[in-house]
Amino acid sequence: MSLSRRTLLCAIPAGAALSHGPAFAQSASPGSAAPDASTAPAAATPAPNQQAPGYYRYKVGELEVTAINDGFWSRPLDPGFVRNATPEEVKKAQEAAFLPTDITPIPFTTSVVKAGGKVIVVDTGTGNMGPPGTGSWMANFKAAGFDPAVVDIIIISHIHGDHINGLRLRDGAPLFPSSEIMISEPEWAYWMDDAKAAAAPEGLKGNFNNVRRVFGPIAKDVKRFEDGKEIAPGITAVAAPGHTPGHFAFILTSGTSKVMLMSDTSNHPALFVRHPEWQASFDMDGSQAVQTRRKLLDMAAAERARVAFYHAPFPANGFIAKSGSGYEFVPVQWSPAI
Ligand SMILES: [Zn+2]
Repeated sequence: MSLSRRTLLCAIPAGAALSHGPAFAQSASPGSAAPDASTAPAAATPAPNQQAPGYYRYKVGELEVTAINDGFWSRPLDPGFVRNATPEEVKKAQEAAFLPTDITPIPFTTSVVKAGGKVIVVDTGTGNMGPPGTGSWMANFKAAGFDPAVVDIIIISHIHGDHINGLRLRDGAPLFPSSEIMISEPEWAYWMDDAKAAAAPEGLKGNFNNVRRVFGPIAKDVKRFEDGKEIAPGITAVAAPGHTPGHFAFILTSGTSKVMLMSDTSNHPALFVRHPEWQASFDMDGSQAVQTRRKLLDMAAAERARVAFYHAPFPANGFIAKSGSGYEFVPVQWSPAI
């Protein structure tokens, strides 16, 4: 029965599906103040093989958070991806999570927070410099009703390319020229240290160069923050070192509601939430990253707090439950109401 229905659906000519395009495009931009078909972002008009625009809104007390998807990288299976697990163990973990085993799927999702009358972006995605399958952040951001010209604050969790390249395109063009940009003091101190850049091993040189490409022209205007401080309305910075020296997570609080933006405390949850002791090749200090991961996952599990990860499957939002020697990421239940 289901097979024949599938066959039937597949037989519908592409043109028939396309005929619903314009109506779909309009209903996909409920946040736009003045919908204008001529300026509608490309992502609002899905091709037959694309999803609807990748944004997901939810409330944290008085705060409104929107998860904005930048895409999905089918990373070829890399035997060195997890330093302290064999490729077979990694494959087994992916299989257990019903993921493909010839690639490791890496999703990218940022958070936009409306708080105290301000629009605050936490991490900016890959811009136009990411791997294949990424680069849809701006289209999704606009489809969600936002405008880069009216972003008040941009908070950067750490300065890896997939979190900062959305600040400046490959040709040097800035995308948020009027926003205040904030980075943790230890992260800034580490990457902007010219002596460290000169002595960096080959594998880190590219990142040191990219940090200078993105922040060089605006270095004097970048504001720095420290651990435990409320850095924007309702947003508290929490030091989460290991992935990078000054990597940070953020706790959004309003009344009794809370969500923990875990940044890259874990890469894909099927690997690093399920196996918190695993060290990703991107974790600069692997054992410190494991310590931080366990601490924040323990906190989320104990408080039954909502969490958002940068590299979890969209909308990258859910809860943490303890399970054996590790944890399970339990995705949030989607709701049509915000
Ligand atoms: Zn990342």
